[in-house]
Amino acid sequence: MQTHGSTRWTRPLRQFVVAGGAAVILAGQSVPARADGGLRLDSPSLVRALARLRPDYSRYIFSVRPLAPGVGGRVYMALVRPGATDPSGRGSAPYAGPGARNDILYDEAAVSSGHSIAWRYLLLDHEYFHARHMAGATLLPVARGDAAELERHYNEAAAWGFNVAEARAGQYPGLREDEFREALDRLGEHYTALRAILKDADPERWSRVSELLRRPDLLIETTD
Ligand SMILES: [Zn+2]
Repeated sequence: MQTHGSTRWTRPLRQFVVAGGAAVILAGQSVPARADGGLRLDSPSLVRALARLRPDYSRYIFSVRPLAPGVGGRVYMALVRPGATDPSGRGSAPYAGPGARNDILYDEAAVSSGHSIAWRYLLLDHEYFHARHMAGATLLPVARGDAAELERHYNEAAAWGFNVAEARAGQYPGLREDEFREALDRLGEHYTALRAILKDADPERWSRVSELLRRPDLLIETTD
């Protein structure tokens, strides 16, 4: 990993929200526009990247689309049900259950500004994990009927944990140290919040969940 001296990139994403049930990643607040000379970022190139990363992506992802200008605020990417345009809108929440496929929405400026190409792969993989989890195709049960906060931290701890494990395994070549740190911080934040909600209230469930979350690399079968 390339290490940058600047500390501005070590700051975590400000916030993660699930608004209207849609899984959303908010970009940091201090993302300067920077010509990184990177590859073109559009739907076809993201789909190609996703296909290289996860050849079975189309089982869980229906399409990859840009967010409309002015929609989504500082969102990097969001998983929404097919056709939905506003990640925070009512009725945009991703479908769940066997066979469910959902759309990835992305904000071109947020994804590309100040970030490496590897970061796109990490974000795509993050949404891939969410989509696969929603489709019931991971070992982690889909949360149903839980409080929104619990569900959000549960889903995010798993997806960021998956990213961290995959980054450590070299899945995103060129990922910068500060970008890895950002993923690690998000994992820690959601894991800690989930533990605070579950550990005393439902020790048995916490025991089961935390055991799974400690080995996120094992949550998906990779034989196909
Ligand atoms: Zn997420």
